[in-house]
Amino acid sequence: MTKKVLVLPGDGIGQEIVGEAVKLIKLLQSDYGLDVEMEEALVGGTAYDATGKPLPDETLKLAKESDAVLLGAVGGYKWEELDISVRPEKGLLGLRAGMDLFANLRPAILYPQLADASTLKPEVVSGLDIMIVRELTGGIYFGQPRGIHELENGEKQGINTLVYKESEITRIAKVAFEIARKRDSRVCSVDKANVLECTELWRNIVIDFHKDYSDIELSHMYVDNAAMQLVRAPKQFDVMVTTNMFGDILSDAAAMLTGSIGMLPSASLNDSGQGMYEPIHGSAPDIAGQNIANPLATILSVAMMLRYTLDEAEMADKIEKAVSDVLDDGLRTADIYSDGMTKVSTNTMGAAVLSKLQK
Ligand code: NAD
Repeated sequence: MTKKVLVLPGDGIGQEIVGEAVKLIKLLQSDYGLDVEMEEALVGGTAYDATGKPLPDETLKLAKESDAVLLGAVGGYKWEELDISVRPEKGLLGLRAGMDLFANLRPAILYPQLADASTLKPEVVSGLDIMIVRELTGGIYFGQPRGIHELENGEKQGINTLVYKESEITRIAKVAFEIARKRDSRVCSVDKANVLECTELWRNIVIDFHKDYSDIELSHMYVDNAAMQLVRAPKQFDVMVTTNMFGDILSDAAAMLTGSIGMLPSASLNDSGQGMYEPIHGSAPDIAGQNIANPLATILSVAMMLRYTLDEAEMADKIEKAVSDVLDDGLRTADIYSDGMTKVSTNTMGAAVLSKLQK
């Protein structure tokens, strides 16, 4: 059955990088028989300018009816002074909540060709391939009660609540175990079970649920140690699964190990296999419209979309190989450029990947 892909370029470099990804999807349709139909809609600041809302009702409706959403990025200087309720970022949060995208998959991959881009020693990070599975719709970012209150003595008090139900923990653990099966079959669950009861429950539930996944090696790590290990010896990890806030922090740290924000894709999934796919970087307003942004994170997001929603793992492998091949050829956008390489534009990088895939 034909699958539906909703394309949301968004703001800033979103237009440019998603343009390259769309050309790639069209090539997969024509040369590889990929059975998808694409539709485009507005989100973020551009949606606000056109409709007064960063997430128009029509966009959310189309997203819910799609199998996959491909998003560029949202935000930019132009919209920074807007009321928080209509800022571009609200468009993103609205999509996550509206589609119940509870599982955020953030790979941190360092292509050996780019090992020099990391701030860590090449031998520590070269060939790094970690998948961080972050719970995205629960935990302390959503728990009640929350807010800032005044105490009887007039002093202010801020409150947030860390809360997880068993069902929220099992469903994210399931995602992690299933992904590990397609990788190196190892999951490290990150918590703070020695201090926080909520994550003591997290650990116990993960251990319980693991009984159905005896082929997967499960380990546990406190979050402070996990942060240290990520910079000390990151290659020890295969899949890491953790709470919303811990995952927020650890996935950014892991991304930075690679030193190239323009290379990293991400996926956010719900229970029915629908997913939103996007590069981890933002709209880069400082370089928007110059045809110099790196489109590879978005192109690799298409590969994740093929693997996790469209069930086309072979096409995903081919895209990842094509990206590695263009790096072997020495092509680099400005963000990953180093001496001796060939500096290329957004369009040229996109076209180079396509030329590796053309039949
Ligand atoms: P950013 O990721 O947009 O940019 C950080 C730096 O990385 C900039 O110097 C930028 O030029 C560079 N960069 C980012 N992507 C690149 C690419 N593909 N190729 C080459 N260079 C790239 O983060 P920021 O500057 O903190 O935020 C800019 C805007 O993006 C803000 O409005 C922010 O809210 C928004 N944002 C959106 C998302 C999202 O849509 N998912 C994520 C983060 C930030």
